[in-house]
Amino acid sequence: MIFPKIKVLHSHGWQYIPNLNEVELTEEFKGRPILTTTADMRDVEAAAELCPTKAISAQPFTLDLGRCLFCGECALRAPQNIQFTNDYKIGSASREALVIKPGDKRVEFCPDQVREVIYKMFGRALKLRQVSAAGDASVEMELNASGNVNFDFGRYGVEFVASPRHADGVVITGPISQNMAEALEICYQSIPEPKLVIVCGSEACSGGLFSESKAINREFLNKYKVELWLP
Ligand code: SF4
Repeated sequence: MIFPKIKVLHSHGWQYIPNLNEVELTEEFKGRPILTTTADMRDVEAAAELCPTKAISAQPFTLDLGRCLFCGECALRAPQNIQFTNDYKIGSASREALVIKPGDKRVEFCPDQVREVIYKMFGRALKLRQVSAAGDASVEMELNASGNVNFDFGRYGVEFVASPRHADGVVITGPISQNMAEALEICYQSIPEPKLVIVCGSEACSGGLFSESKAINREFLNKYKVELWLP
């Protein structure tokens, strides 16, 4: 019977978000932090000490979004100095721009740092191959969600594809383990030129919790230009 199904569909209503630029996120969502210096910086030193990924430096005072897990512990320890906003526009073409300093009001995305050929070739559609290089499925779930009915990034012409030979670029998640380094290289070499590299999540940006592990091999990121760093 089709009618009960139509009834269910009707009760769901419209699930997609018509304009992603107008989305209001809840206050609980942790995005770009604001850093404030105070006369007594002992709380910042304590927050730096407890940060599991060493994302905070007390001297000079900075917070590296490429290392941050957004656990929020530092903001609880040093509420006068670190507050998280719900600004989610924190991707950048430059790794350095992910390091937040006191007074910073946004994460710079400088379009000039993206190669001309990328605009020219992929301005209207972008096919991506995703490689989970020892990821823990958290970022991979977020990437899945970006294609779901709510966010529907296919409306911008962005899609994941099954084969690197059909892709315009690679999205890397995970800290890049030694075991996955060769697979990542093979995938990259299989993508036709011109191609781009996107790293997604703190583990991919910096190694995250595993940055000091002997089991990771991040040579790939030294060899090829990264077009987009997404904390
Ligand atoms: S929110 Fe980020 S910077 Fe703060 S303690 Fe957690 S991982 Fe470290």
